[in-house]
Amino acid sequence: MARHFQCSVCGKCCYGQLPLTCKDAFANVSRFPLCFLWTPLRQGSKDYAMVATLGTTIKLPDRKELAVLIVPTAYIPSSFPCPALSGDNLCSIHLNKPSRCKTMPFYPYREERYQSELLTPRQGWACDTTTEAPVVFQDNKIVFRDDFDHERRDLLEQVPVLRRYADYMLKYTHSLVSSLIIASSKAKAGHVITSLSSFLTATRNADAKHIAQQQLPILNNYVAKTAGDTQLNDFYKNYLNWSKEMAYLAQRSQ
Ligand code: SF4
Ligand code: SF4
Repeated sequence: MARHFQCSVCGKCCYGQLPLTCKDAFANVSRFPLCFLWTPLRQGSKDYAMVATLGTTIKLPDRKELAVLIVPTAYIPSSFPCPALSGDNLCSIHLNKPSRCKTMPFYPYREERYQSELLTPRQGWACDTTTEAPVVFQDNKIVFRDDFDHERRDLLEQVPVLRRYADYMLKYTHSLVSSLIIASSKAKAGHVITSLSSFLTATRNADAKHIAQQQLPILNNYVAKTAGDTQLNDFYKNYLNWSKEMAYLAQRSQ
């Protein structure tokens, strides 16, 4: 069945957390407050094979396995707009926006044949899915696929560095496996959050100091924006902790 979709520029999907490729995260280190979101999936889940390919797998004590996506993410509260969203709901970095935004509403962490499930807009979103809108999905295939293929390629290329990061974190953060097990048992995608500084350290990023110098003012800005708002206390605490870590990295001599 043909499925239709067109963006009507309501800007609603430009609020809250934005998953990124590593390439896009580092290209926007002076724009977005960054972290890594670990989302575990149990065996038997529909997206298990794709998540295991693009993320990593972890053996559990009961001999089962978890597949875990590790996604660089612009960590923004759902009530906050993306810092690149302009007043007229247009993207101020349209030509250079992250792959995730170009591929919307499709999502390359999911098998292509299931992508039509993503064409139903969330509540409050004004996407046009009537027959007036262009056909974007037909015969289990995405029609205009360049952006989807490009994002999938970038996700595949970054797998080795994410696995190196996962190995390091699993070795040195003893509570990580139990946190992932707890997250995997939640009805709605639970996750574990780790900092950009842990990634830079684990992967021995040669540019860590420069990256930290660009990220630090962004984190400090979000500390200020979320201070005193009890609903955003978790965000505030994370920004504050990460800002201390970034300040350390930003001053460290290489
Ligand atoms: S980068 Fe542009 S398209 Fe992407 S979330 Fe931000 S404003 Fe929206
Ligand atoms: S929610 Fe839909 S209509 Fe609104 S900006 Fe996003 S894609 Fe466009």
